[in-house]
Amino acid sequence: GKAIGVFTSGGDSQGMNSAVRAVVRMGFYLGCKTFYIKEGYQGMVDGNDNIVEATWASSSGIMQLGGTVIGSARCSSFRTLDGRLQAAQNLIERNITNLVCIGGDGSLTGANIFRQEWPSILEELSKRNRITEEQKASCSHLNVVGMVGSIDNDFCGTDMTIGTDTALHRIMECVDTISTTASSHQRAFVLEVMGRHCGYLALVASLACEADWVFIPEWPPEEGWEDTLCKKLSAERSTGQRLNVILVAEGAIDRQGNPITANKVKDLIIDRLKYDTRVTVLGHVQRGGSPTAFDRILGCRMGAEAVLALMDATPDTPACVISLDGNQTVRVPLMECVQKTQQVQKAMDERNFEEAVRLRGKS
Ligand code: ATP
Repeated sequence: GKAIGVFTSGGDSQGMNSAVRAVVRMGFYLGCKTFYIKEGYQGMVDGNDNIVEATWASSSGIMQLGGTVIGSARCSSFRTLDGRLQAAQNLIERNITNLVCIGGDGSLTGANIFRQEWPSILEELSKRNRITEEQKASCSHLNVVGMVGSIDNDFCGTDMTIGTDTALHRIMECVDTISTTASSHQRAFVLEVMGRHCGYLALVASLACEADWVFIPEWPPEEGWEDTLCKKLSAERSTGQRLNVILVAEGAIDRQGNPITANKVKDLIIDRLKYDTRVTVLGHVQRGGSPTAFDRILGCRMGAEAVLALMDATPDTPACVISLDGNQTVRVPLMECVQKTQQVQKAMDERNFEEAVRLRGKS
């Protein structure tokens, strides 16, 4: 049977374990060997104990856990040809010619480069006598399938990324928790949530938590927002509301491009309204904890589909990403999605928000 290598790379997210488990198990069903490649590309380059054959038992009891049990890392040597030659040699020694990459756009780009370069990598390794002619012949193609693990939901081509739903739940729990104490003392709370380029978490959490106001990178507030915000908060209080909740995405900015930070908003409220106002930065709490049912099932479905996609791949099949379209898991071209995601980031950097939002929409 074919050998599959599965790894997680870049920032971790809840639900990655479920995806890894599904890859291993679908692999078993189809008679493949599956290898965990630990610590992302670093483990692929380092080889040895970092690449271990998966068993049914070792993939049990992991889908309930947050993070990624096989580890993730950033790896500078994989960006160099020497690093990729070493990684390829480690794979070839184990007859692994199928890769499942679970990560963000950077990790997927790396996987795609690796796949495209594979024929020249084989030539080079063989020229340097690091692989045999038989190995060269039996590992002539590398198939690559990606899945997006990211709490930000910032990848073009899928409705949801693995981890977003859990991060939302975590934010919701925090806001609900804080709301009870805020209400007792008639406080205003300004909460900073993750999202440098993408306001999805802040926006959806604000809807789910009845926030009074939300700041997101894609939508800098109109000039004079300070007055509008204060009026709104005092109007809420005058109708008997005992607390205020304001969410600020990390990357929120005003029309001049200046950051709108949680502290800035807090100072404004204290200065103008004299409310007892506190800031809470949620930080890594959003990445932590056990995955929601949605993320567990999403990981399962995507992982299973990833293996099916590998089995269908021919030497001419470009790398694909498994994505969620409505309620269907589908295969979409990897590089198209990565490029679109990078275009969105560029548009955001240039503060061309309409273009960013347009690109993110389905086409
Ligand atoms: P996140 O969204 O959490 O940042 P990511 O996958 O985008 O996840 P990166 O740090 O961009 O995170 O990439 C993770 C790793 O993927 C890098 O450390 C590097 O090893 C590899 N990688 C990224 N881009 C490339 C590239 N152009 N060529 C080769 N390898 C790359």
